[in-house]
Amino acid sequence: MEEVTKNISTSKDYGGYDYSFISSHEELHEFICPICRLVLRSPHLTDCCGACFCSTCIREHISLDNSCPLCKKEHYSVFIHRNIERSINRLQVKCPNNADGCVWVGPLVDVATHVDLNKGDCDFVRCLCPFCEEEFSLNTLYTHKTDECPRRPYSCKFCSFKSAYEDMPSHWPLCDGYPAPCPNDCGSMDMPRRDIPQHLEVCPRKIIECDFKFLGCDSTYPLSDARVHEESSAHFHMSLMGRMVRELMNREATPTGPTHEDLEGRLEEKDRELSLLREQVQVQGKELGELRSLVSTLEESQAKLAKDLQKVRSHVVTPPFHFTVYKFSELRSSGKQWFSSPFYTHPQGYRMCISLDCNGSDEGRGTHVSVYANLMRGEFDDELSWPFCGIVVIQLINQYGGGDKGGHIVHEIPFTPDVPLEISDRILDQELAESGLGVPQFVAHGQLQLDKYTNCGYLRNECLRFCVTSIRRN
Ligand SMILES: [Zn+2]
Ligand SMILES: [Zn+2]
Ligand SMILES: [Zn+2]
Ligand SMILES: [Zn+2]
Ligand SMILES: [Zn+2]
Ligand SMILES: [Zn+2]
Ligand SMILES: [Zn+2]
Repeated sequence: MEEVTKNISTSKDYGGYDYSFISSHEELHEFICPICRLVLRSPHLTDCCGACFCSTCIREHISLDNSCPLCKKEHYSVFIHRNIERSINRLQVKCPNNADGCVWVGPLVDVATHVDLNKGDCDFVRCLCPFCEEEFSLNTLYTHKTDECPRRPYSCKFCSFKSAYEDMPSHWPLCDGYPAPCPNDCGSMDMPRRDIPQHLEVCPRKIIECDFKFLGCDSTYPLSDARVHEESSAHFHMSLMGRMVRELMNREATPTGPTHEDLEGRLEEKDRELSLLREQVQVQGKELGELRSLVSTLEESQAKLAKDLQKVRSHVVTPPFHFTVYKFSELRSSGKQWFSSPFYTHPQGYRMCISLDCNGSDEGRGTHVSVYANLMRGEFDDELSWPFCGIVVIQLINQYGGGDKGGHIVHEIPFTPDVPLEISDRILDQELAESGLGVPQFVAHGQLQLDKYTNCGYLRNECLRFCVTSIRRN
């Protein structure tokens, strides 16, 4: 409902002013309209006898009769009389709502503003209530609208229903939030109507049946008396149970089991099932045998594949053979020897690995990284000539070179006929030669870090990278 307070026109616009003037009757005499006998509104002067009339009064007369109302002359003209209008506008009048209590007095020209609902300051303006459209003076409207109007907007206190105040009494009998007492009169009051079904499930006055009804106790009683009944009827309930147990035992004692014929029939059936199962077991046994032979075939081919793979590797892992040594500092401080994975000097060649002493050995101890080449027992040793003669070329990679800009450190390890046999001869009963042949001062520790002038550095992220670039056989 849109709340708009409407102003009511307090004076008619037709004819003269019907106000309460402060001036005396004599003073007003010259401003009275001869037609309506009220003070002139918009005074108009005739050019026949010079009389003054309200604008609306003389116009209405002219529309009915073309002679002057006073001198009766026909064909006359009327003009607005500004001087008289100004004098009338200055006349002091009481507020039109004076009878209701407004004490305002002022010039006639200000009355319209004084009683204007928006611009004026009259507290006694007549206006309409936006809800019931009844008429009130402005000073009583507020109380009426908020507290008294039967059509004022109202929200139900117990639910989300909204309507006019006077609609509530017809809503409340239907309202599901309206406070209501328990229908069983258990003493629970003021619960929302919608909660009553839930309450009735647990209401102390709910009538229930005894738990022993199935045994024959037909008692019913309010929920609140359940304990009392259970205690007072305990003996009765026990006797009911006793009777039930006796009945059950009697039923057990008179067996109605299967007959001899039934049993024979069942036995035959079981025999048939058993022979069926035996057949199934035989079939499955056969299948199992087939699976076993398949598995052993697969195992054989796997072993063959492994052997082939080893052969392939011996062809693949040959120089150039790259390897990386991680955790340099740890290796150096522990003094442990490090071994590369094995490789072959050439396809079907000698098997070898490279070993490292990060903290140096022999004349490199404590100052250099020492690098050795070690012969290993290999797959093709039978077809090779012994002792091994050749030159193993090992490169320490410059890891700051960027691409292959050089700066690598290269050493050749010559296996000559002068090398002791424990280093260069064929190994029969172990994996690795007694000792290797190498360069104890392969690289000085001081040379490993990046040198900014040469852009050479060999230790990066704790890693050294090597390459066995070639092995030349003699
Ligand atoms: Zn008049
Ligand atoms: Zn006249
Ligand atoms: Zn007033
Ligand atoms: Zn109202
Ligand atoms: Zn409600
Ligand atoms: Zn109840
Ligand atoms: Zn009972």
